[in-house]
Amino acid sequence: MNETIPRALADVKARIAAAARAAGRPEGAVSLLAVSKTFPADAVRAAHAAGQTAFGENYVQELVDKTSTLAELPLEWHFIGPLQSNKTRPVAERAAWVHSVDRLKIAERLSAQRPDALPPLNVCVQVNVSAEASKSGVAPGEAVALARAVAALPRLRLRGLMCIPEPTDDASRLAEQFATLRRLLEQLNAEGLALDTLSMGMSADLEPAIAEGATLVRVGSAIFGART
Ligand SMILES: *Cc1c(COP(=O)(O)O)cnc(C)c1O
Repeated sequence: MNETIPRALADVKARIAAAARAAGRPEGAVSLLAVSKTFPADAVRAAHAAGQTAFGENYVQELVDKTSTLAELPLEWHFIGPLQSNKTRPVAERAAWVHSVDRLKIAERLSAQRPDALPPLNVCVQVNVSAEASKSGVAPGEAVALARAVAALPRLRLRGLMCIPEPTDDASRLAEQFATLRRLLEQLNAEGLALDTLSMGMSADLEPAIAEGATLVRVGSAIFGART
């Protein structure tokens, strides 16, 4: 049995608790998504044995492989990677959440392909908060319109917003990107949506994300080790 993963998981949970406390936020305000991309099914088993149930994957084929291999475990799978429209079906059939909805066509396909026997698929709209041309995500100015359209789809449940900020050593610039996402969520809720999820913060920046209101952090390397 892998001894490293349980210890690393405990360390990450302690970081989350400390960051929430420092921000004056209640215990349990921030949930942990363990990002298992590129790591084998046994790494997921080790984290599950240590109490983790929510796992994130970036690649459709890896989601298919791990959900099949680990079908006997009561795990909740989140798809967090870029999604092409011809690959939505396995995600609609296997994931509980999709964090990376950045255009209406993808959302419409996920809604149409979500099996009737499953509850609605939880989704977040991914927002490009850094204005970098290369990043995926809808522009902040278009996020409200996309969120409204996604919220109207019958087999999806819009839960909130997700971002991957531009990596920077400038703490105030990083905080500003997380704050952009928080303000957009506040705007949507002021307009009548009931969104509860700010998916932001990874291994290197979960503390500033939690300070700005993250409700879910997506953590890979700090739990499973460096990816090759
Ligand atoms: C890989 C990945 C993560 C986890 O990143 P770490 O730095 O390993 O914690 C989180 N979110 C997304 C979208 C990712 O692709």
